[in-house]
Amino acid sequence: MRQPQEKIKNFSNALLNAKSQVGQCSTCFHLTANDECEICCNSNRSKELICVVADSRDLLALERTREYKGVYHVLGGLISPMDGVGPELLNISSLIKRVSEEAIDEVILALTPSIEGDTTSLYLAKLLKVFVKVTRIAYGLPVGSELEYADEITLARALEGRTDI
Ligand SMILES: [Zn+2]
Repeated sequence: MRQPQEKIKNFSNALLNAKSQVGQCSTCFHLTANDECEICCNSNRSKELICVVADSRDLLALERTREYKGVYHVLGGLISPMDGVGPELLNISSLIKRVSEEAIDEVILALTPSIEGDTTSLYLAKLLKVFVKVTRIAYGLPVGSELEYADEITLARALEGRTDI
């Protein structure tokens, strides 16, 4: 209440501008101020590899690892019949179009290990397998955690997702 009127006006205008300038990438639906996001525009990224995520926050988390060199597809949520979110409300038809029309080698499903995440992964795998190799990220134990304290679902998934050493 003590802020000058002008300062509040500038702040709210900045918020409104940010909202009107930020849109979605026409290819992957990541947040961007342009038609295509900087990941899709980057010629160093492998366009044959698509990682499917629920939202842009998950995309940014994966980017922070600096391990992934492919591109993404942001679904805009997860299938959740309880909340009335069916596949038609998510960016799924655009993903099928990308995979069926472009030369894609592999689709990696990187969705949260939950009922909604698993439902969405199974739904997508069924549709995509016809066109392309579909993989899912491994779920396992958090770094620094003790094996004996892990719950059985996490432990079972860690076993299931084991790799050669
Ligand atoms: Zn993009």
